[in-house]
Amino acid sequence: MLSDKVAIVTGGATGIGKAIAAEYVEQGAEVVICGRTESTGTATAEAVGCEFRQCDVTAFEEVEALVEGVVDDHGRLDVMVNNAGIGSESSLDDMSLEEWRNVISTNLDGVMHGSKAALPHLLRSEGCIVNIESIYGLRGGKGAAAYSAAKGGVVNFTQQLAVDFADDGVRVNGICPGFVRTPMTDDLLETERFYEFIRSRTPMERPAEPEEIAPLAAFLASDGASYITGANVPVDGGWTAF
Ligand code: NDP
Repeated sequence: MLSDKVAIVTGGATGIGKAIAAEYVEQGAEVVICGRTESTGTATAEAVGCEFRQCDVTAFEEVEALVEGVVDDHGRLDVMVNNAGIGSESSLDDMSLEEWRNVISTNLDGVMHGSKAALPHLLRSEGCIVNIESIYGLRGGKGAAAYSAAKGGVVNFTQQLAVDFADDGVRVNGICPGFVRTPMTDDLLETERFYEFIRSRTPMERPAEPEEIAPLAAFLASDGASYITGANVPVDGGWTAF
């Protein structure tokens, strides 16, 4: 259970972040989600029973203002879920430098920004960070040069932070989902060829639903995970075991 815990979920308006926000609320947490699009954010906040605040994770000042605002209003911060991210499907030869910079700045810098802004408050609450990574952070991802680089960076950053702050009581863990049916992948999964690629590559022969990722994010944030830090846990239907 997450009763009395205050959590921020970046990118919590849709997909995996929305499912995590809903699970946290269900388990008794006070949850603030953030994103760039106000209309989606406020609709999700109303549906899930949490708060939405606008914030672009690529801008450290915005993330810092978000975190400080949440702590001012809720009195503390216990859990920072760095989930916001964008997709990218280019191999190096057809990837633009702009695509690289966008993906790294959202998927890698964004996680660092959330962690750096939250850390002083997590040290006070002996709280935790949960990063949403990817199987492409553990293995090469076909046609995903920038995405794999960013996610691999987050996987190692997670271990690095875990080591640095373990004796301060701050735990840092990550989740590496396989393919999940969300707005990020909806179009891809509609393609017969791509769906067949997922089916043939995944021992469970299907993509995940966001609600199959959220329970682990809740467990990692709970007191039941008190001896787990520096773990990057695949939730992938067996992809990385194959
Ligand atoms: P979605 O596109 O549904 O969710 C991503 C969310 O992040 C959106 O709500 C978006 O809102 C927000 N976001 C994007 N850029 C920014 C930004 N600069 N600042 C703040 N918020 C931002 O995709 P998923 O739920 O699939 O993705 C969530 C996480 O899970 C990502 O990190 C993704 O890489 C990871 N993941 C997804 C997998 C999948 O198969 N779906 C597999 C493995 C990992 P807005 O645009 O309004 O800002």
